[in-house]
Amino acid sequence: MISNKFIQRLVKACQVVVLTGNGIKAESVKSGNLFNEEKLSFKEQRDKSPEKFWQKVAESRRQYAQLQPNLGHFALVDLENRFEDFMLITTSFDGLHRRAGNKNLIELKGNVFQNRCHQCGAIFEADEKQKIPVCPECGSTDILPNVLQTNESPEESKLKQAQRVSAEAEVFVTAGFNDTNEDINALPFIAKANGAYLLELNPEKTTFSSAMNEMIAGNPAKFLTAIALLLEKI
Ligand SMILES: [Zn+2]
Repeated sequence: MISNKFIQRLVKACQVVVLTGNGIKAESVKSGNLFNEEKLSFKEQRDKSPEKFWQKVAESRRQYAQLQPNLGHFALVDLENRFEDFMLITTSFDGLHRRAGNKNLIELKGNVFQNRCHQCGAIFEADEKQKIPVCPECGSTDILPNVLQTNESPEESKLKQAQRVSAEAEVFVTAGFNDTNEDINALPFIAKANGAYLLELNPEKTTFSSAMNEMIAGNPAKFLTAIALLLEKI
């Protein structure tokens, strides 16, 4: 259950940070999806056969487009509206938080519906009509999906921003978060070292659980919804 102690800390807080991962959603994309495969890098696949690669990207994107935000995603929109200074950090690249309506959002691993130009750094929405994408800023075709692959590190500026807001957080919640990247995993500890109250919502205990003030084992989306409902009554 959500403790009174946590709720008391939360209602007094101005700066709240939630860190989510793939564990927040109930459904996932079909197997064989390009963005969940760990074979060749995107660059290697694209350079081998650009047309084939971008076809696979489009097919995978159609699968992601069928996923729908759940109550947990919507509860996070409620939390964003409630707090003066709210930031949602996510390692999900499925774009569901954005589609649910969160605006104060750091997508550490990018967004499956975006492309990135590796010539000029521009990030732009993918255009399904283009067989081979062209950068709207510089005209380059050195484009890849804006999604971090395994072993790639988050963009420096995004990571810095995530570290800064984590250090300022009064309450820091992780929900369905479990990652292998050292820099990302350090975020709850940065928050803790700066005095935040930490709550973990995860189906099972993780390596961070012992460092948290509280850990609730269960469906993260369900408990986020419970938190949003409790706040409405206060
Ligand atoms: Zn460009």
